[in-house]
Amino acid sequence: TETTSAKPLVVITGASSGIGEACARSFSKAGHPLLLVARRIDRLEALKLPENVICAQVDVTDRPKLVEAIEKAVEKYGPVDCLVNNAGVMLLGKVQTQNPEEWQRMFDVNLMGVLNGTHAVLPSMIERRGGTIINISSIAGRKTLPDHAIYCGTKFAVHAFTEQIREEVAQYDVRLVNIAPGVVETELLSHSTDKKIVDDYKSWKSQMGQPMQSEDIARSIMFAYGEPQRVCIREILLCPTRQD
Ligand code: NDP
Repeated sequence: TETTSAKPLVVITGASSGIGEACARSFSKAGHPLLLVARRIDRLEALKLPENVICAQVDVTDRPKLVEAIEKAVEKYGPVDCLVNNAGVMLLGKVQTQNPEEWQRMFDVNLMGVLNGTHAVLPSMIERRGGTIINISSIAGRKTLPDHAIYCGTKFAVHAFTEQIREEVAQYDVRLVNIAPGVVETELLSHSTDKKIVDDYKSWKSQMGQPMQSEDIARSIMFAYGEPQRVCIREILLCPTRQD
């Protein structure tokens, strides 16, 4: 007879492409039951992961819906041991010309989305005295980059509150981790609407030879999570070797 896996539940937002997708594959391979969240449910289902994976069509800015999806997964698989707040958008632009709706969207997804996820799982982690929240920030949360003003604003904020919350919940053995990648080959750039800025980004990127792949980031996430609970990897900043 098959032995049932004792691995705990992991929740990954933005698992329908890029880093989130690679991360979902890695956690699934390690035997964890998963809750995968994104708006493109077809892309989540197309991953064809095992039966212990729940795919939920949820916009992370919709807090009640995110909470509901997490509650359902918890009913089935037990408490959330790891939340990967990965969903994000990068809409490059210049403040003086960019449509303010794009600023709003970045703050809503990159910041409010991460807070919504954190708020949904943290009380139970504190109560259980354990758990890990991994926030996918960016090198843009550590330094400024051309045409990244608002995106940097959201990612600097992610670093700040991740570190603040980490300090506050450390006494309960809950870990918070910032993962800050440089350039990764994903769909991220495809949502930027300013053609000149997109072209500038592409030529900057081409100078650095090989960008990172989503799997490279998934390895860092698995490493941080896989350390014993007594070790908190507070931050991993990783870039293509040739990135400036
Ligand atoms: P992708 O565009 O491939 O993935 C973004 C993911 O976020 C998708 O699964 C998308 O799913 C999801 N998403 C976007 N908006 C929402 C929303 N409102 N609700 C739920 N899910 C949402 O890009 P990456 O894999 O590169 O991005 C993942 C994270 O990595 C982001 O936070 C990004 O800022 C960060 N990052 C990326 C870098 C890079 O160079 N690629 C560098 C540094 C950090 P869907 O559209 O189906 O909702």
